[in-house]
Amino acid sequence: MTKDNKYAIGVDLGGTSIKLGIVSDNGKLVNKISVRTEAEKGPKKVIENIVSGINELTEKSKYKIAGIGIGCPGVVTPGKGIVENPPNLPGWDKVNIGKIISNEFKKPVYVDNDANAAAIGELTFGSGKKYKTFIMVTLGTGVGGGIVIDKKIYYGEFGAAGEIGHISIDYNGPKCNCGSFGCIEAYVGNLYLRERVRTELRNHPESKIWKLINNDLSKVSPRNIQDAAEAGDEFAESVIEELGFYLGSAFTSLCNVLDISVFIIGGGMAGFGKPLFDSIRKTIAERVLAPIRPRVKVLPAKLKNDAGIKGASALVFHHK
Ligand SMILES: [Zn+2]
Repeated sequence: MTKDNKYAIGVDLGGTSIKLGIVSDNGKLVNKISVRTEAEKGPKKVIENIVSGINELTEKSKYKIAGIGIGCPGVVTPGKGIVENPPNLPGWDKVNIGKIISNEFKKPVYVDNDANAAAIGELTFGSGKKYKTFIMVTLGTGVGGGIVIDKKIYYGEFGAAGEIGHISIDYNGPKCNCGSFGCIEAYVGNLYLRERVRTELRNHPESKIWKLINNDLSKVSPRNIQDAAEAGDEFAESVIEELGFYLGSAFTSLCNVLDISVFIIGGGMAGFGKPLFDSIRKTIAERVLAPIRPRVKVLPAKLKNDAGIKGASALVFHHK
């Protein structure tokens, strides 16, 4: 790290905690803190918590800050910093968080949806660096998506584009939180995955998962599914393969519609690693239109820990 490096503050605004960090322009996190969101107290209190978090972070810091990037859930009006009705943050009808924070700190502030921030993070510091066009998918409680075209986020008309989690792969499929049916989020989201594994485990008394959860079905998690699969458990392997099949089916449609052939996968469940990635690749290879087939790449995200903070800080470097 030299004095020539530039630094930005990244703010990862979540429903329960706000993670804040100082990140250099080569992607090194030099300092971080976490404060409670207190979402139930409404936007005014949440913004106060962000402000005091930034003050705490910069108090003893010697770094010259070029700007502040904020990644948050929900739809963000492109270029305006207005957050609209984010899930998990009650009372946020339309809040111009960008303007409030820039008035407070007299610095440029860039706000984007957290899935888009993750995509900009990979573009700036991670696996997306050598690609101009790709789709970033974050696998967690939900399935987040960011579409990067010619090194820019594709926002759609009002900033809501990229909701890859809500591509339906079965019109008669399970009901999704969004109101539709058969969305991939309803197949591969963390909650759905746990639920399905709990149900199916009863038909697999031989599975190694039983021992890992001490026969307590409430303990089923991606972690013990992965541990069982790594120990050669066939049921756990089939669960991961099936996840790859669902994702690969949705990605095939994206390839065919957009002619985008690079997918970068992050989030907790990307930890399933090679078996998941191989299954996604196999499904796309079997299904995608022939001209696109040889170009398809499915890559793990490079930013893992602190991806939210780094992605938010990347918004600053990306716009500079
Ligand atoms: Zn949905």
